Amino acid sequence: MQKTDTYSLKNALVSFKLLSTAAILFSIALLGWSWYVSLSVLKFNRPSDMCVLLGDDLWALAHYKSGLFGLLIFFQIVAYGGLYLTSRVLFARTSLRRRMKNLIQAVATTLLVLNLLVWCTAPLLRFSQTIAGYVGLATAVAMIALCLPPLYQMWFYKRWPNPKPSRVVIVGGGFAGVYAALGLDKALGYHPHLSITVIDRKNFFLFPPLLPSAATGTIEMPQVTQSYRRIFETTNIQYKKATVTQIDPKTQTVRMHVHLEGEDLNGEPAGSEVDLPYDYLVLAPGSTNQTFNTPGAEDHAIFVKELIDAIRIRNRIIDCFERAAVVLDETIRRELLHFAVVGGGPTGVEIATEIQDLIHEVLLKRYPEIHREHPQVSIIQSGPQVLPGWLDSVVRRTTDQLKKLGVKLVLNNRVTEVRHNAVVLKDGPAIATRTILWCAGVKPSPLLANCSLPLDKSGRVPVDNCLRAPGHENVFVLGDSALCIGEDGKPLPPLGQVAFQQGDHMAKNLARLLCREPIQPFKYFNFGALVSVGEHYAAVDLLGVKLTGFIGWFVWRTLYLVKMIGLSTKVRIMVDWTLDLLIERSIAVIDEAPHAAADSPEHRRETVPVAR
Ligand SMILES: Cc1cc2nc3c(=O)[nH]c(=O)nc-3n(C[C@H](O)[C@H](O)[C@H](O)COP(=O)(O)OP(=O)(O)OC[C@H]3O[C@@H](n4cnc5c(N)ncnc54)[C@H](O)[C@@H]3O)c2cc1C
Repeated sequence: MQKTDTYSLKNALVSFKLLSTAAILFSIALLGWSWYVSLSVLKFNRPSDMCVLLGDDLWALAHYKSGLFGLLIFFQIVAYGGLYLTSRVLFARTSLRRRMKNLIQAVATTLLVLNLLVWCTAPLLRFSQTIAGYVGLATAVAMIALCLPPLYQMWFYKRWPNPKPSRVVIVGGGFAGVYAALGLDKALGYHPHLSITVIDRKNFFLFPPLLPSAATGTIEMPQVTQSYRRIFETTNIQYKKATVTQIDPKTQTVRMHVHLEGEDLNGEPAGSEVDLPYDYLVLAPGSTNQTFNTPGAEDHAIFVKELIDAIRIRNRIIDCFERAAVVLDETIRRELLHFAVVGGGPTGVEIATEIQDLIHEVLLKRYPEIHREHPQVSIIQSGPQVLPGWLDSVVRRTTDQLKKLGVKLVLNNRVTEVRHNAVVLKDGPAIATRTILWCAGVKPSPLLANCSLPLDKSGRVPVDNCLRAPGHENVFVLGDSALCIGEDGKPLPPLGQVAFQQGDHMAKNLARLLCREPIQPFKYFNFGALVSVGEHYAAVDLLGVKLTGFIGWFVWRTLYLVKMIGLSTKVRIMVDWTLDLLIERSIAVIDEAPHAAADSPEHRRETVPVAR
């Protein structure tokens, strides 16, 4: 079913648009005139600013020209009434967030009533004379806020001449998918022949860069998410919660699996298959964890990829401290208090240092039974340094900071097996630990193997310079799933900044296609790299500017905040960061079950159900 036309103002009849615009302009003119008359009829030569002068003038008008004063009040009522009523009718059809609309309307209504009260009581009350000008100005501003958005949305938008029905289906609502959907909706708005559908197995957008902070309690779990229903509230984008199991480019259909509770009559997991036809497909299912088939990794390691992983990590760390505080056996105690991170990339570095902070800032104070020398955080990295491929200066400073924080670096070594209580290494003795966090890289989503599209040896879809799959002009592949060659001839890395730039670009290109304009090749702009190394320290290389320490950390936080989707989530994150400075984080072990429902078992293991 088509979502309601949230852009109804664009599609209103021209006669309606002209009439309402004329009513607004007439009311503004009448308002301006009544202000002008009230300020200019009686000319006192007094030094007074305009706002105070208005109150004085109203008093004088009421006493010396009472007829004109009555007429001005009448015009004020007509002007404000006309402006208010017309704007309200239009405002109801404006695509602004519901809460924002309610706020603007409430402020405008209150000020309007106050303004009329002030005018009526100005001849009698000194207080009304004093505030008349200020209230008048505030009311005018509120009225502008009420009538400008509808006027803008009514007249300024991109005209879309293509009468051909276009169903755009976007698989995956990560960075690439959400930016593509929002960009497309912004460029084209509502059109009866256009439908944009985003399919994702979760009902929320996840912001992975802040997962390490959520896992260690610096920010609360919901803060790294934003529900799709909310993101798409003021758009014409439809959202469907389902797992895509297969794509058939020949018949141009996407097959979705909708999970149901329990099992069906044949003992199979209950669910329902739904086929969705498309004219244009945007494939952005992201990536999954790369374990390099290391024995035991799937069963005993915790990944750092999904919200449920963050919950598990937090629970595991706190639970290990609880157990270590009780057990007497020294070996088990040390196992419980060793936290091993496999992979020294940015995610590994960030999660290791966040854990180190949690231990030293909170846990050691709350668990006096545990000696401060006993907890240990290690990073195991196959290469000779952490942050492989990063600038030498950033690597050097990060390594120094890791050493300063007491994080142990195990370099030039490989994990050959993961056990429930140990990490087995290629060289040297195994590390005894009950917590193994796997951050050793990603591989493309397994869904790509079910899409009948050509794949390269890494499992990604090679795309042309306009991000289209070879031989499929109407299939765009974005983000971690795409093998896109950069200007330097090397494949672009699986990064959020690549994904959202591709999403933006694809939206513009698809809008061009639908408007029958030539499409443009994608050019990646590298903003730089940033990694936080514990509390109040980050290494940042942004547009060639290198920052470390507190300033780097401040920039790191600000940039993440900017890129997070949704104003309310940004505010919540800021509040959490501030509270973290003042109030101790919670160390309650929270139940995984309610959240786990959002991330089904096949989701965690990334096995796409076989399409029937
Ligand atoms: C812990 C962590 C920290 C990171 N930090 C940074 C950073 O600081 N800077 C940076 O640039 N990058 C960072 N990244 C990388 C970045 O998050 C990814 O490169 C980016 O999210 C890729 O975007 P995407 O849209 O391709 O995929 P994703 O963002 O992974 O989105 C894919 C979406 O598709 C959905 N999906 C998958 N399969 C299916 C299916 N079969 N059916 C329905 N839906 C499906 C998923 O639920 C998901 O919502 C980090 C990644 C992690 C894990």
